[in-house]
Amino acid sequence: MAVDCSKTISDPLSAGWHTSAAPSAGFPVASAAAVAAARPPHLVAKAHRKIRNQRAAFHHHLSRWLVEHYGFIAVEDLNIQGIPRGILAGPVHDAGWNSFFAKLSYQAANAGRELVKADPRGTSQVCVCGAAVPKTLAERWHECPVCGLSAPRDVVTAQVILQRARIGRSRLSCVPREAVAFQATE
Ligand SMILES: [Zn+2]
Repeated sequence: MAVDCSKTISDPLSAGWHTSAAPSAGFPVASAAAVAAARPPHLVAKAHRKIRNQRAAFHHHLSRWLVEHYGFIAVEDLNIQGIPRGILAGPVHDAGWNSFFAKLSYQAANAGRELVKADPRGTSQVCVCGAAVPKTLAERWHECPVCGLSAPRDVVTAQVILQRARIGRSRLSCVPREAVAFQATE
């Protein structure tokens, strides 16, 4: 399952201030910067507070739902701070990934669920069969020329992340025999 946190929160700033009469002949059209500058500061602060609260509530519900439905949860080991300003930077930072992962980690630990981080490099550029399937960001469908898998890009990427997390977990499980025996008798 692929979750896009960035598309679930409406922006009261844009929702409330850009819905007035559509531009028509004879009316001056204000620039976005002029509209933003005209917003009363206390209303802007209120709108940002509303966004923060909505985001926190969504992260809480989503992480709780994931923990209630899955025993093993895989996430990309993203270095959020290291993502440069670019196409993905805005949505990733706006969605508050660090905050979401913190909530998910906390809830998974409390519920005894396994949360594993997987290497995020090239997860959207390979198939679950291991073949390289290069795609631009605009290409939303995955077509593997090797195994024939045809599916939405995000679904395949999620499967690749899960696959990597499982491999990582099995490597972590390669511990001394006595440790395994100790775990088995718990
Ligand atoms: Zn394939």
